[in-house]
Amino acid sequence: MSEHPTIRPQPGILDIALYVGGESKLAGHAEVLKLSSNENPAGASPRAIGAYRAAGDSLHRYPSSDHAALRAAIAEVHGLDAGRIICGNGSDEIISFLTQAYAGPGREVVHTEHGFAMYRISALAAGAVPVEVAERARRTDVDAILGACSERTALVFIANPNNPTGTMISAGEVARLADGLPPQALLVLDGAYAEFVAGFDGHADLVDARDNVVMTRTFSKIHGLGGLRVGWGYAPAHVIEVLGRVRGPFNVSGPALAAAEAAIRDADFTARCLAENTANRASLTADLRAAGVACDDSEANFILARFASLADAEGCDRALRDAGIIVRRVTGYGFPEGLRITVGDAAACARVATVVREFMRVKA
Ligand code: PMP
Repeated sequence: MSEHPTIRPQPGILDIALYVGGESKLAGHAEVLKLSSNENPAGASPRAIGAYRAAGDSLHRYPSSDHAALRAAIAEVHGLDAGRIICGNGSDEIISFLTQAYAGPGREVVHTEHGFAMYRISALAAGAVPVEVAERARRTDVDAILGACSERTALVFIANPNNPTGTMISAGEVARLADGLPPQALLVLDGAYAEFVAGFDGHADLVDARDNVVMTRTFSKIHGLGGLRVGWGYAPAHVIEVLGRVRGPFNVSGPALAAAEAAIRDADFTARCLAENTANRASLTADLRAAGVACDDSEANFILARFASLADAEGCDRALRDAGIIVRRVTGYGFPEGLRITVGDAAACARVATVVREFMRVKA
């Protein structure tokens, strides 16, 4: 790294490890099967793609600054109060708004050991101190989080289901966490993978019932719009009022707003993606276990495959790459011996299972 002798970033910035997104190319392979970023194997809803194309006629116009149409659609579909929804450039941006507004020098941001990298990055970018809390058997440990909180805690981030473990904690545990926090702390429930749990709405009811709980959601996963960058948050009125001050007026592009609105209204497409993910996840989990690879039951659209050693994880990753398949090494998330595998369609899961089975057979 080249450091300038006099021009320096604010404290904390150089503690941030560069977040590099999942790869999409493999040398020697014209086509790859990309299972590294938890994208939707079905793509986006055809209605969303149509709305995106139609929005091309208005590229010279600034987009809506209040996101009223998208917020109304989200509110209708999820049964929420549109006035307490905020939209962002991916849910990453909602996380960033929260840290900009509530964290900062002298304040702490609590996240779990294997939590999503953006919690720590956003905390450091805001000049705050990230506090990492151990999990118990790859599950969010509410008592450990409560034990790590203090009068300096500004935000507590948990994802439910969690990435990269795919595990979930119960609504009762989440409520106990909200109840036990110090009075100045805000609990952020990251529901990026909530749609993959049938009948679960990311604890929206808890946001309605408490004044210290925020929910974040995304269009990048089940709605298949990762390339457009749209996310949203649902929060108490006092938080929405604060975040609105931090958000720039045109933070979500016109085509992205149009596609997201069409996507969330396409309930049949969403239901089909949920059903397919549930079925393919079950078969891939069973195949990985049968091959001798450990994995917890996942509630999301990926599976954390845990190998017996670092050498095995590296070897299996190499075998998958040789077969043109990209999965995610999760070393940076504290799992050097793990591979996070996105649940693809049935054919993709079968291809992964064949390679893993063969790798485990040959190495035995
Ligand atoms: N939260 C979690 C737990 C995630 O895994 C991701 C995506 N990797 C995000 C938030 C951010 O998603 P996006 O910015 O695409 O909405």
